[in-house]
Amino acid sequence: MKSISGKVRYALTFLFVILAANLLLAQKVREPQTNPGERMVPNGDGSAVVVPVPEEEAGPVGLAVVTGNGINYNGGPVLKSSSVPIYLIWYGNWNGTGSNTQATVTLVEHYLNSLGGTPYELINSTYGDTTGNVSGGVHVGGAIFDTGSQGTRLTNSRLTSIVTRSLSNGLPTDANGVYMVLTSSNVSEQGFCTSFCGFHTHQTINSTDIKWGFVGNPDRCPSGCEIQTTGPNSPSANVGGADGLINVLTHEQEEAISDPDLNAWFDSSGQENADKCNFNFGTTSTCAAGSLCTAAGNTARAKFNQTFGTNDWMIQQNWENAAGGKCVQHK
Ligand SMILES: [Zn+2]
Repeated sequence: MKSISGKVRYALTFLFVILAANLLLAQKVREPQTNPGERMVPNGDGSAVVVPVPEEEAGPVGLAVVTGNGINYNGGPVLKSSSVPIYLIWYGNWNGTGSNTQATVTLVEHYLNSLGGTPYELINSTYGDTTGNVSGGVHVGGAIFDTGSQGTRLTNSRLTSIVTRSLSNGLPTDANGVYMVLTSSNVSEQGFCTSFCGFHTHQTINSTDIKWGFVGNPDRCPSGCEIQTTGPNSPSANVGGADGLINVLTHEQEEAISDPDLNAWFDSSGQENADKCNFNFGTTSTCAAGSLCTAAGNTARAKFNQTFGTNDWMIQQNWENAAGGKCVQHK
């Protein structure tokens, strides 16, 4: 990407948006085809596995489970805390340049602590299991830095090591929370930027069912993982990593809460709620003088579609499990 000149890069911006959509659709290529009597379930990394369709829907459907809206309930639990703790593991160098900064750390934590209870996050409360609904509450449960215990070329097993290490370095072991590993843009991860922008999964760690996810700094690959290279909170032109990361983090936390063990909510194609609205932003506004955007966001006329916590944000829509089902910006 660095070899592309500024002018060419600018000219390619529109093409990049198309490529971004293709990159995400390309995840489907990796999914096996199903035969009658089979269905696909998500693997947690955007891929899917084929399993036989049970003759009857698994598990009893209780009062909190509403179906018939384009997404299926598969019997597993959702996360139902009144406010779900999101534990952040800042991996790599977050005292660097561009978007790899403490300003990004502060912005992301402010975002998550402002998100709970918003009309946007309440879209997730249309999902439940047999004993209750998702609350729509979230907050930062804790945050730690790991400056590079597993190097700069990560794999899934190294990510597991990073999460495991975080549990002995200050984060609680909490089956009702979500752990997110956020990597600085100098860190690679198997599949990041080529197959996906983030993923979530679950794994038994310390004898506990730990839900964890990965979100890389998308300034590593703005063409694939950012809707715009200058966002509403960019500190300067073409430093869109914080806004891009917030969008992917939003996607993954919605799914980790509504489908924490990969056996609750997804459709017949294996798509979870946020997958069904991937890079779908709905109606947007334009940063301009008088908006809450940064000066760089105003100059670039960056797009945003949400305002809360004294900031403007550009975050994808989520699938509402009501009224037939659709991508919406708020419940
Ligand atoms: Zn997803």
